[in-house]
Amino acid sequence: NRQLSDAEFARLAPPELKARLFANENPFGPSEKARKAIIDHLSTSYQYAFMHFDTLVQKVLAHEGIQKDMLLFSSGSSPLLMAAAIAFCREGGNLVTGDPTYDDLPEQAERFGATCKKVPLTADYKLDLDAMEKAVDANTKLVYICNPNNPTATAVDIAKLQSFCERVSKKTMVMVDEAYIDYMPDPAAATMIAAVKKGQNIIVARTFSKLYGFAGLRVGYMIALPETVKKLEVLTPGMFSISGPAIHAATAAYQDKEFLSGALAKTNESKAFLYKTLTAEGYSYIPSVANFVMFPVKMDSERFVQEMMKRGVGVRPWKFGGKEWCRVSIGRMDEMEAFAAAFKEIS
Ligand code: PLP
Repeated sequence: NRQLSDAEFARLAPPELKARLFANENPFGPSEKARKAIIDHLSTSYQYAFMHFDTLVQKVLAHEGIQKDMLLFSSGSSPLLMAAAIAFCREGGNLVTGDPTYDDLPEQAERFGATCKKVPLTADYKLDLDAMEKAVDANTKLVYICNPNNPTATAVDIAKLQSFCERVSKKTMVMVDEAYIDYMPDPAAATMIAAVKKGQNIIVARTFSKLYGFAGLRVGYMIALPETVKKLEVLTPGMFSISGPAIHAATAAYQDKEFLSGALAKTNESKAFLYKTLTAEGYSYIPSVANFVMFPVKMDSERFVQEMMKRGVGVRPWKFGGKEWCRVSIGRMDEMEAFAAAFKEIS
């Protein structure tokens, strides 16, 4: 029941797609300020950017109210997920996570010698925190929580996650992947960074790849206790893996409220159009708190995706809970219209 990774799927997707709705990217980014920063610093990109990196670091520290030794940057959050897999799973044991969830860390953990305990989602397609807590045993090296969850775009109750983290982090390391948290109505209330600040054994992973629109620029970071940062720092290439233009772009874009709320509004407009299209064709969907929507299809999901792809629309197939599913990333309105036209032909 293994799903194709983003990289594997990208190799199958023709480059001339009308609608690129398969990788949860944000076509409304990067922001004007980020683009200008890249252009302004292109001619000095022969220089190592270490003198500028600290400006970005200081911005994040000030915004989150944390010390420098609690922050670790990387070229996107993927290297941090991999570092966590190496740090906690290379001596075996198990990793507890949801099913389905973002498979990158679980797959790395298996590569490095751990087994995965994948706990099915609840009936409303959320991470089943109670069952996940029960799955934690003396051999659990890491618990991976993706919130909002990819591929279902559902989020767990914040108070419930807080109490889960408080209890479970006393037994083992908990990693909370907040890649899509910027799409939630109140990210500051939903984040588990406050739990780290209280001294809990938690890693929060963040990325500029989603609402900031930096997937191809590669900037991400994690926030954890200093001893955890030290443990993972030696397993990542650190700031030298992020290019100078990307550092400048992230510095210019970070917490740019006007851009973020604009991109969110456009995402929500496209999402509302998608909901309407699905409903009009007699389809249901899982209500989404992120920039993608999962809905059940009425044929084999891989065939569905092939048919969409033939019509220039790239979406992703899934199989779980005994059903066939399609995950659609939210794109520009012209892309959603291309989706609707192709979907009407085959639904
Ligand atoms: N975490 C989740 C939940 C994701 O969906 C993705 C990418 O789709 C990533 C992490 C990796 O993001 P990046 O390495 O671009 O920060």
